[in-house]
Amino acid sequence: MAKENKTICIDFDGVLADYSEGYQGKDKFGEMIPGADVASQVLKDKGWTIIIYTTRPATAALKKWLEKNNIKYDYINENPNQPEDSKDGCKIAADIYLDDRGMTFRGQWTDWLIREIAEFQPCSAKKPDQKKQMEKAYDEGKNWLKRTREALAVDSCI
Ligand SMILES: [Mg+2]
Repeated sequence: MAKENKTICIDFDGVLADYSEGYQGKDKFGEMIPGADVASQVLKDKGWTIIIYTTRPATAALKKWLEKNNIKYDYINENPNQPEDSKDGCKIAADIYLDDRGMTFRGQWTDWLIREIAEFQPCSAKKPDQKKQMEKAYDEGKNWLKRTREALAVDSCI
């Protein structure tokens, strides 16, 4: 498998951990979103540097949650490999930012982009029947895990 020397910043709430109940406290975390553990392993196997990029502080409880849920990562809220002259800013350097509250800028400010911003709802926003959706996502995650492992076994590109 070809190694990719890239860095991804991954949000915590709503991406790794369920956030349908919103913020519950500094060291109170939602259940792992199905597939997050496998995704982190796949990225590590492909050579990615993973930074957990969250408004939460890097507490022992957060690290314990990541370990308990088998989330592979390199750093929390820091990129030691960032160029020295860019470390004074708040933004951490990365190739990709994965966030439940992010949008992709595609090179133009357009009416539809403004509308998308104005109407944006994070996928982690509380929805009716959340438990059933989580169970369905978990089943889909298990199937995805099986397919991913099969794909990795034959060293194909995923
Ligand atoms: Mg989030």
